[in-house]
Amino acid sequence: MGDAKIVCTLGPASSSREAIRDLADAGMAVARINASHGTREERAVLLDRVREVDRESDAPLASMVDLQGPEIRTAPLEESVRLDEGSEVRFVEGEEASAERVGLSASIAAADPGDRVLVDDGRIEATVERVEGDAVVARVESGGALGGRKGVNVPGLDLDLPPVTERDRADVALAVEREVDVVAASFVRTAEDVLAVAGVVEDFGGDVPVVAKLERSGAVEHLEGIVEAAYGVMVARGDLGVEYPMEEVPLIQKRIVRRCRETGTPVIVATEMLDSMVHARRPTRAEASDVANAVLDGTDAVMLSAETAVGDHPVRVVETMRTIVEEVEASEEYADLREGRVPRAGATSADSLARAARFLARDVGASAVVVASESGYTALKTAKYRPQVPVVAATPEERVRRRLALSWGVRPVHVDRVADAEAIVRQAVDAALGTGAAESGDTVVVLSGMMTDVEGTDTANMLKVHVASETLATGRGAVSGRTVGPVAYTDGDLRDVPEGAVVALPEDFGDEFVGDLSRIGGIVAARRGMTGYPAIVARELGVPMISGATLDRRAVPPGTTVTLDAERGVVYEGDVTDGRGA
Ligand code: ATP
Ligand code: MG
Ligand code: MG
Repeated sequence: MGDAKIVCTLGPASSSREAIRDLADAGMAVARINASHGTREERAVLLDRVREVDRESDAPLASMVDLQGPEIRTAPLEESVRLDEGSEVRFVEGEEASAERVGLSASIAAADPGDRVLVDDGRIEATVERVEGDAVVARVESGGALGGRKGVNVPGLDLDLPPVTERDRADVALAVEREVDVVAASFVRTAEDVLAVAGVVEDFGGDVPVVAKLERSGAVEHLEGIVEAAYGVMVARGDLGVEYPMEEVPLIQKRIVRRCRETGTPVIVATEMLDSMVHARRPTRAEASDVANAVLDGTDAVMLSAETAVGDHPVRVVETMRTIVEEVEASEEYADLREGRVPRAGATSADSLARAARFLARDVGASAVVVASESGYTALKTAKYRPQVPVVAATPEERVRRRLALSWGVRPVHVDRVADAEAIVRQAVDAALGTGAAESGDTVVVLSGMMTDVEGTDTANMLKVHVASETLATGRGAVSGRTVGPVAYTDGDLRDVPEGAVVALPEDFGDEFVGDLSRIGGIVAARRGMTGYPAIVARELGVPMISGATLDRRAVPPGTTVTLDAERGVVYEGDVTDGRGA
């Protein structure tokens, strides 16, 4: 799994539970459902399937409902109609659709002669000649096949539609009811529009973060406010490239991603990333470059639209995208860019610590930054500074676990709610071992955010270097001390036992050693007891011992290096005593 995440739009080509499962296995982190298409009942079914797929596997799968917003679409059509260049066409409000009269979901009669009407992300273009009552008469400049429910833009025209339509309210209600992870607000112009959507989420009693889609003329001018008001941002290049001159889109993308990197706001680059793969088996070189460049820009996520919604081979597209992402992330160019643009520390102490964690991880050669984060806040801060190693986020909140699937580099893991600092660290480190981000004996950097219900030691803003250790066996310390050595299973015969061995004795040990006792580095006795024969030997030799602990010979073969910590009564895998504290 790459650091940059993949968002897939679900549609007829990817709506079965199996199809969703396959997309997730191929690398989908977020499933997007566009409320502009299909029915609300279909969306409800899709959302349930997405949740089932998330439950089935460890890797999180987040859901996103993309609201239609104040948008105009052409009427639904069974078959496409041809609009010829040079012909005259009337845009009217309504359900009809022919080459002469195109029905729209809202009137555009406020348009002026000379305004451009762009249909289907600008594939069809017409210029307004006159307005006759409710009908807008326009001359087709670029013709093409017109499909049903295609987006219509009249750049610069204030449509006077509310930022949240009645339809949107119903979709927000659904999103709240199904505990959707992210709601995308379409066609926002300002921070107020974002807050209006957030307000509706609240009206329904929900806690769903809002991602603002930047796609409308004027929105880019309000970038700062929008980024501040929203949980995340989407560079929705389809409408953006219609509402703004197409040649400005590449730089607008870079500016938005950069702003979001600096503020730690999750950002998605969307639309037509591998568009030719709707049908083709391979992307064009230009498309491969587009995905690679978005990753080099430092985006949190890249998105697939029609490629997975209605494409011929959705899984193949996700695999292709993942391959491109991973290739970039393994490159020196990427590493240089990342090192060269670490954001300055933000105003909060969480920012300073997250930034410190990033450099600390590099300097101690850690294999992961492990974050204990209840609200996701500390995990987002950690991702903001783009560490070189994975960010493992351990959270007791299911929705935070899923929501973080959208964030660059974060591997979210659900953990139980525990009430003391040591358990929090222990759990977080176990989470890192569980994801494979760290192995026993590896150094990890642990960062803990604010946790409710935690007593005693304050865990908020705790940063420490820790040696991750897998517990192989636990018992009671009989003779204190700590040692590292190879495991040897014996019933008392020490002749084949290596020097400094951690000797594992069976339950029916006959209380007799044969051979050189000095080879014993430590004792792990299956039988309980602090005063028996093995304890006498351990004390005499001055080696640590635990009792009532059994090592599993199949899981821990003879010769495996382990650390015996009699203080804690634990046998850890590997050498976890490199001085930084186990
Ligand atoms: P937006 O501009 O909001 O992104 P869009 O129309 O460009 O909307 P996408 O969500 O990007 O649509 O999906 C790409 C295409 O996939 C759509 O044009 C539509 O034809 C198809 N599609 C997406 N979702 C569905 C669906 N639920 N049912 C049928 N077709 C869908
Ligand atoms: Mg839309
Ligand atoms: Mg689009």
